[in-house]
Amino acid sequence: GISRRGVRGNFVPPIKSNGNNTGNVTSRNVGKGEDAIDDSIKRCLELLCGPDGELPEKLRNLEPRLIEHVSNEIMDRDPNVRWDDIAGLEHAKKCVTEMVIWPLLRPDIFKGCRSPGRGLLLFGPPGTGKTMIGKAIAGEAKATFFYISASSLTSKWIGEGEKLVRALFGVASCRQPAVIFVDEIDSLLSQRKSEGEHESSRRLKTQFLIEMEGFDTVNEQILLIGATNRPQELDEAARRRLTKRLYIPLPTSEARAWIIKNLLDKDGLFNLSEEDIDKVCKLTEGYSGSDMKNLVKDASMGPLREALQQGIEITKLKKEDMRPVHLQDFEKALQEVRPSVSLNELGTYEKWNEQFGSLS
Ligand code: ADP
Repeated sequence: GISRRGVRGNFVPPIKSNGNNTGNVTSRNVGKGEDAIDDSIKRCLELLCGPDGELPEKLRNLEPRLIEHVSNEIMDRDPNVRWDDIAGLEHAKKCVTEMVIWPLLRPDIFKGCRSPGRGLLLFGPPGTGKTMIGKAIAGEAKATFFYISASSLTSKWIGEGEKLVRALFGVASCRQPAVIFVDEIDSLLSQRKSEGEHESSRRLKTQFLIEMEGFDTVNEQILLIGATNRPQELDEAARRRLTKRLYIPLPTSEARAWIIKNLLDKDGLFNLSEEDIDKVCKLTEGYSGSDMKNLVKDASMGPLREALQQGIEITKLKKEDMRPVHLQDFEKALQEVRPSVSLNELGTYEKWNEQFGSLS
């Protein structure tokens, strides 16, 4: 993490020698809080400086405010997810451990014919744990985690996406080992072309592919993970660079049971019999992990609503006034929380998996 490094006493403003960049810091951040923004940019550049007090070569031509944005908004210092938090997906965990975590931990062994691919694609329905896997990889491999949603590059960062992508890969290379997680990667690397495609989004795509090639050839400890629930939109060039493509399916019945138990246990609310759990699992065929989370959330409101209905005021309510969560609470919640993925969509994923997915 960044905090352990501390601030260097002998700091030399890294942007002083470069007239162009100095201009960027102030002129771009007009309006209120200008000083605060400048301070934040300065602090963040300080932390990226080498022992000589200079900014690494790769960062010198980038706009400081973009470097700051990457460091403070995209970089996640504490991804806080472990393998054990993720239900099921044993196959994906095993593959990822071998092809991603070991190489990040032991680059000396994983070279030559063992050298790993640098791009991993996680595809499947939404809410199945793809982001969790990305975070867990960073945690297990003691890597810095960068999270960006590709659609924000085209919406929020209109016209600046390219520059932000450069800043992202630049900062990541100063924070190795690093995991760059690109959510909705299809919106960046989609195969839809010509008429509809703007010049700017084409340039963004090109820039992104160039950056990926860049860390492919030099021996860098950076892994790119793309996540998508529309894998069929990726073109051949994108597929080629995302060498490993893992299907992240809906949770099995056991995984759903585990999610229920785990979430309720955390709050000391778990009090269902095995039979009840089985029933809930049968009724939640087709629910994603995130649907299950919403279901548990809704069910856990049951005892609270009931206590309030009996006339207890919310301000006076004690934990003891609430009964544990029952099967009926789940049955009620099932009316409210419906599965978000259709059978039809599942077919698409399975077909794509057969054609392009990695088996191991
Ligand atoms: P996505 O596949 O869309 O990236 P996320 O990883 O963001 O999905 O999951 C969203 C939420 O759903 C998680 O924060 C977690 O609470 C729950 N969830 C999804 N899949 C799982 C899983 N396999 N195990 C435990 N929780 C899960």
